This record gives sequence, C-alpha cells and structure tokens, in this order.
Amino acid sequence: MTRICLVEDEEKVSSFIKKGLEEHNYSVDVAADGVAGLTLMLQNKYDLFILDMMLPLLSGMELCRQVRQKQPDAPVLILSALGTIDDKVNGLQAGADDYLVKPFHFKELLARIEALMRRRQPTDQGASHYLNFSDLKLNIWDKTAERGGKQIALTAKEYALLELFIRNANKLLSREYITEKVWGINFDTQTNMVDVYVNYLRNKIQKGFDKKLIHTVIGMGYILKEQ
Ligand code: CA
Repeated sequence: MTRICLVEDEEKVSSFIKKGLEEHNYSVDVAADGVAGLTLMLQNKYDLFILDMMLPLLSGMELCRQVRQKQPDAPVLILSALGTIDDKVNGLQAGADDYLVKPFHFKELLARIEALMRRRQPTDQGASHYLNFSDLKLNIWDKTAERGGKQIALTAKEYALLELFIRNANKLLSREYITEKVWGINFDTQTNMVDVYVNYLRNKIQKGFDKKLIHTVIGMGYILKEQ
C-alpha cells in the first residue's frame, strides 16, 4: 500500500484529503505543523509527501529540504495558497516535484499523485522490492533471503549469486557469465570459484528442504529451476 505523509495545518483541508485518499486505498499519516511532520518523516519511510507551504513551527519549504536529504526517493507535492510564479519556483527549487495551488479539486490532486507514483517506479520490476522463485523470496532493498518463510543468512557474494539466479530463473548460466555478473570481472575460467560459491549457496538454501533448486548442467554451467 502506498504510504503518504501529509503535513497541513488546516484541519478541514487535511481531513478532506486524508478521507479522499483513503477511499483510493492510500495510507495517510497527518501532521498539523512542520515539526510534527519532520518527526513523522524521521520515524517512517514514505512513498510520497504532501506538504502545505505555510505551516506553524517549520515551513513547508524547509521541511521539503529535509525530506530531500533523508528520503531522496520520495516525491514531494507542495500545496499552497501562494500561486505566483515565484512561489512555485521557490517550491520547486527546494526540491519539490510538483506544486498545486489551493483551492484545488480532489480529482486533480489524485491525478498528480498517481503521476508522481508512476514516475517513481523503476522500469523493470514495478514497485515491488521482492523477487520470488518457488518458495524462495529475496528482499532486494535490504538484501535478505528466505526460503519457505525461514530466514537464510547469506554473505554478500552468495546473495548476489542467488539474485542473479532468480532474475534468470530457468535459464542456463555459464560460469563465465556468472563470474562477470557477480564478481564484475572477466575471469580466467580455470578457477573453480563459481563452483565453490554455488556449493556454499546450495548448502544454505537446499539443506533441510526436499526440492533441489540449483542444478548443474555438466560442461555448461548452472540453472535455477524447480525440477
Ligand atoms: Ca497552512
């Protein structure tokens, strides 16, 4: 669920926005002044910020600068009663991604939020930060792995190798290809480094499970598949 932080001191406006967004399946946290907004921002990770410009204690502009530093990936939409070109330019220079002048129609706010969220999504895997294969699940943000709901401790190279296998599931991968992708080098393939790491990985993800997932194709390389 998309998580939004809304900082707005006019209660009527904030409850109207919160209610509308929740009806569209967004989760919304509201703060009524700049410092409360800063606190929310420091404690939670958000997908998007909606900031009123004129706020008690800390301005929307200053808050926007803080968001840019702490949560650089989250788009910021500024709401403001100030509609001059200079006001907009100031907001955008503080790092805002969009600027909406009050009063506005809820439909327009919604359309702009949707546009910002679309822009934010990476082109390949969509918004998800999980990769799945069979009962394996990787979290590509914190680089952790689990199988059948059980956490598996992996070293950085083992994780990189497993991610490569899952992104190329059911494809035969040569040792040369694996070396280049995981170690970033074109190796002399006389070394058995890949075999050694594949064995480490097999020990961790297959021990205690019925199904083998990483298969050797003799003379060619390895393949991740279900049978
Ligand atoms: Ca205000």
